[in-house]
Amino acid sequence: MTDNPLHEDWATPFGLPPFDRIVPAHFPPAFDRGMDEELAEIAAITGSPEPASFANTIEALERRAQLLERVENLFSNLNSSATNKEIDTIARDYVPKLAEHRTKIALDPKLFARIDALYRKRETLGLAPDQLRLLERYHLRFVRAGAALGGQAKARMTEIQTRMAALHVHFGQNVLYDEDDWRLVLDEGDLAGLPDFARDAAAAAAKERGFDGRYVITLSRSSVEPFLTFSARRDLRETAYRAWVQRGEHHGEHDNAPLIAELLALRQEQARLLGYETYAAFRLDDTMAKTPEAAEHLLEQVWTPAKHRAAEERAELAEAANADGLNAPLAPWDWRYYAEKVRAAKYDFDESAVKPYFVLDNMVAALFETAGRLFGLSFVPRSDCPVYHPDVRVYEVRVAGGKAIGLFLHDNFARPGKRSGAWMSSYRDQESLDGEVLPIVVNNNNFSKGDPTLLSFNDAKTLFHEFGHGLHGLLSHVRYRSQSGTSVRRDFVEFPSQIMEHWAEAPETLRKYARHYQTGEKLPKALLNKLLAARNFNQGFATVEYTACAMLDLELHARKDVAPVDIACFERDFLARVGMPAEIGLRHRPTHFLHLFDGAGYAAGYYAYMWAEVLDADGYAAFTERGDVFDAELAAKLKVIYSAGDTRDPMALFREFRGRDPAIDALLAQRGLNQ
Ligand SMILES: [Zn+2]
Repeated sequence: MTDNPLHEDWATPFGLPPFDRIVPAHFPPAFDRGMDEELAEIAAITGSPEPASFANTIEALERRAQLLERVENLFSNLNSSATNKEIDTIARDYVPKLAEHRTKIALDPKLFARIDALYRKRETLGLAPDQLRLLERYHLRFVRAGAALGGQAKARMTEIQTRMAALHVHFGQNVLYDEDDWRLVLDEGDLAGLPDFARDAAAAAAKERGFDGRYVITLSRSSVEPFLTFSARRDLRETAYRAWVQRGEHHGEHDNAPLIAELLALRQEQARLLGYETYAAFRLDDTMAKTPEAAEHLLEQVWTPAKHRAAEERAELAEAANADGLNAPLAPWDWRYYAEKVRAAKYDFDESAVKPYFVLDNMVAALFETAGRLFGLSFVPRSDCPVYHPDVRVYEVRVAGGKAIGLFLHDNFARPGKRSGAWMSSYRDQESLDGEVLPIVVNNNNFSKGDPTLLSFNDAKTLFHEFGHGLHGLLSHVRYRSQSGTSVRRDFVEFPSQIMEHWAEAPETLRKYARHYQTGEKLPKALLNKLLAARNFNQGFATVEYTACAMLDLELHARKDVAPVDIACFERDFLARVGMPAEIGLRHRPTHFLHLFDGAGYAAGYYAYMWAEVLDADGYAAFTERGDVFDAELAAKLKVIYSAGDTRDPMALFREFRGRDPAIDALLAQRGLNQ
C-alpha cells in the first residue's frame, strides 16, 4: 500500500486521527511497520556500547514505539466504538501478534539486564522523584512479565501471554455477538407499563434494525434495564431477563464457558511461574490494597450489612407484588419492576417523571461547568475536526487564560458495532519529555438517542463518572508517557471518576441544569428532595449484585486448583456459599463478565470499584464538611491527584488531599447501610 495515512504525521488539529481517510485495510501494514520500528529501537538501546544510563535506557524506552502506540490507540478505539466485520477480523489476527510482540520485548534479557543494572544503583543516579518511580515501575513490570525467569519458564510465559490475548478478544466478541444478535421485537400491544422514553427508544431501535413501526428491546443495558423496570408483562420480562443473563452462555461457537476455564488455568500457571501461590495474590501485589485479604476484608465489611438491607427491601417488594396480584415468589425479573413500584409509592415519583428533567445536552453543560468551577477548565466546541461517526462531539479543553491543554471527544449514543457500557479511552496521552504533547481523550456512553435525548438519574451519574476519567487524562501534567493520566494502580483509577459522580447530584448542579425538556422549568423542589431522599433506596440490591461479583472474582482467581473450572458449577456453589438472595442476580455473570475476561485489566480487581468508593465517599465528604462543594482550597488539592498520573504513591496522594487515611464510614452512609 503506497498511500497509507497511518504512516504519515497527521496535520489535523491536535494530531487527531484523520478518520475520514482511514479504512480498515490500512491497519495491518501499519501494525507491521510499527512493530518493526519498535524492535529496531529496542535493538538500538540494547546494542549500545555505552553502559546503561537513565537517559539511554529508560528515557529511550519512553520515546519508542511512537507509530505503534498511535495506531494501536486508534485501532482499539475503533474496535470498541465503531467496529465492523473487517475490524473484527484484523483484531482477531493482530491482537495476539501484538501481545506476542510486547511479550518479546518484556522478556528481552539484554533489555532487562540494563534496567536491572540501573535499578540496583537507583539511589546513586541522582534521579528526580518521578524518574525514580518510573525506573522502579519499569523494573517491577519486567519482573512481573517474567523477565527474571530462566529460559524454559520464559518461553512458556510467552506462550501463555499470546494465548491469553487471543482468548480475551474472542470472549469480548462472543458477548458483542449475543448483544447484537438478540432482539425482542414487540408490537403496540406488548408495551404495557413502558413510559414514553422507553417506547421511543424501543421504536428508534426498531427503526435502526429495519422493524419500522414496531418496537425492539436489545440486550444493551440502556435498553433492557428500563424494560425490566417498567414492563408490566411478566412473561416478556422473564424472556428479556433470561436472554440478558445468558449472554455468552450457550453451547456452540459463541460459548464463553470453555474460554473462562482455559483463561483461569493460564492465569494460575502464570502466577505460579512468577512465584505466587495464586493469580489473585500476584495481581494484588501491585495495587493500593496490596493483598487479596485486604480486598476481601473490605468486601466482607460491606456484604453483611448489604444482605441485611436487601432482605428488608425484599419484604417490601413482596408486599407490593402481592398487592399487584402476583401469586408466585419474587423472581429476579421482578425485582426492578416492583422496586420501581415501591419507589414510586414511597417517594411519590417514578423514573419517567424525573427523566424529562435530565436532558443530555444540559447535563453535558453541567459537566463542563463543574470542571470549570473546580479546575478552571473550559470546553470549546470544535467543528473542524474529523470524527469516526457523526454523533461524536469534539471540544478543545482550555485552562483559565485560554491555553489549550487537550482535546475531548464525547461519543454518547448506543448503536450497532459499538460495545455496550461506558468507558473512557485516549487517542494520545499527555507527556512533556520532548516538548508538551497534549492529550486526546474520549468518553463513550451508550445512551438511547432521542429528540432530545433524556437520561435517567443513573445515566447522568455515568456521564459524570466517565468525565472524571476524562479529566484524569486531560489534567495530566507529567513528564513521561507511561506515567500519564489514568495509568495509575487499578484500585485507585476509579477514585477520580467516582468522586466526580457526586457533583451530578450536588444540589447546585441539579437546581441549575435539571430542567424540563419542553417547558424549561426547573426540577420542582419537592421532586428534587424526593430524588435525593431516594438515593439510598434499593441500595441493598445494588450493593449485593455488585459485591457478590467482586467476591466471586477474587475467589475465582484465588483457586489453587489447576484443573479446568466448570464455571456454571463454580458459580452455583459460590452463590450458595455466600448466601446470595435468590431474587437478585449477579450484576455480571461469569460468561459475560467483560471486566474479568475480555482483558485481564480487572481480573482479581473488580473489588477496586468498592475500594475506590471508600476513597470517593470519604473524599467528597471533605467538601460537604466544608459546606461548599466547590471549595477552592480543596479543589486545588484534588487537582493535584488528577494531574499527578502515576508519578506518586496513591495512598500518599490521598492523604495529602484528605489530611488523613481513608475511612469507610462515609461509604456505608452513602449507601444507607449504616442504620
Ligand atoms: Zn470507571
